[in-house]
Amino acid sequence: MISTLALHWHRLGGLMPGELDEGELAWLVSPHRHLSLLARRRAVLIVNRVRLFAFLFAVLTPLWSIVDFVVFPFQLWSELALMRFAACVAFACLVVCYRSNGDLFNAYRAIALLFAIPTVFYVASHTLLTFYQLSGISAAIGAGYAFLPFVLLGGLAIFPLTLIETFVVASPILICQAVSGYLRWAAMDWPSFAGAFWLLLLIAGVAGLAGICQLAFMIALVRQAIRDPLTGAFSRNSGMELLDLHFTNAARAHAPFSVAFLDLDRFKNINDEFGHEEGDRALTAMTSQLGHHMRHGDSLVRWGGEEFMLLMPGTSLMQAQVAIERLRAAGFGTRPEGGPITASVGIAERKSDRAREWKELVEIADRRMYRAKENGRDRVICEDQPTALSA
Ligand code: GH3
Ligand code: MG
Ligand code: MG
Repeated sequence: MISTLALHWHRLGGLMPGELDEGELAWLVSPHRHLSLLARRRAVLIVNRVRLFAFLFAVLTPLWSIVDFVVFPFQLWSELALMRFAACVAFACLVVCYRSNGDLFNAYRAIALLFAIPTVFYVASHTLLTFYQLSGISAAIGAGYAFLPFVLLGGLAIFPLTLIETFVVASPILICQAVSGYLRWAAMDWPSFAGAFWLLLLIAGVAGLAGICQLAFMIALVRQAIRDPLTGAFSRNSGMELLDLHFTNAARAHAPFSVAFLDLDRFKNINDEFGHEEGDRALTAMTSQLGHHMRHGDSLVRWGGEEFMLLMPGTSLMQAQVAIERLRAAGFGTRPEGGPITASVGIAERKSDRAREWKELVEIADRRMYRAKENGRDRVICEDQPTALSA
């Protein structure tokens, strides 16, 4: 049973060749395990799209008053125009005042606000229209007001959301629609209501699928942008973004944050004696070896050539030292001539080293790595006194 499921899951992954690898498929369902860099970029994108949508609505909502003016009686037009003006102001506030801080909850709130404004407008205008007996073209335009939930659910397609997020955003609109149908059940034409509700569900489904496809594309693009193509470790630029993110989070939570600077020993010899390709192979093997043994939540960054940085959020200096010793014991792979690949490592920690910003933390780790080199290589240094902790 489990293997059949796994097979189908694998086939599903094959539907998106080159886009997602297997581990990333689950990211389409829930944001729970998304990389922090993906979460940050997605949060910014969502808020930007909310603002774009709000801008369009801020312009179009009052413009439609012209149509209302032509078809509706003056009294109804003026009341609707007032509502349209209020919605326009609310949308404009969203465009002008809302900014992304890179946090997903901030992005969720932006979507909630974007959807709340037309929902309130919908309830108010719909209630108002029930007091008027319209006919002909006015009745047709009046009926158009009932389309707002369809527009809202269709609008979901512009956001790169996971399945669960789509469900959470779409549910309130669907529930409101169902409740309003239930309350008016006795007096209304229920087959047409059921048909409209079914259409609403279909639109939500298709819009959700479009959003998930956008997310898949985004995951693939972000992966390409943030990974070093040779080793698959984070590239230096994304490493700096991660350092900033983890450092800020750690400072906010008064939590420890350790970084280890690793420089492979006598790596140039491999290139000189066995060629650049052997050097590349050794780098790839070493990264995959580290990837297997490092803790989930830690990130490996290729800082440059044969220099790597291991970021360990929530890890004290002592714990980081234990982690690095564990990685050294597992080994960094084998040199082409058969000997072990070794590294010189410098560790620094935000609290114990009193670093005020991430750059300082990197400088301290780098300085200690150089001392490890001077002291004979293949060792770890995690304090500034000239003592080698392990050799
Ligand atoms: P040390 O123990 O002092 O660190 O010696 P080292 O030879 O490792 O140090 P050095 O900085 O002099 O040399 C680093 C070498 O790493 C130089 C370069 O040939 C090699 N290197 C850097 N990036 C790559 C790469 O992407 N592929 C390969 N094959 N080699 C690389
Ligand atoms: Mg080097
Ligand atoms: Mg080196």
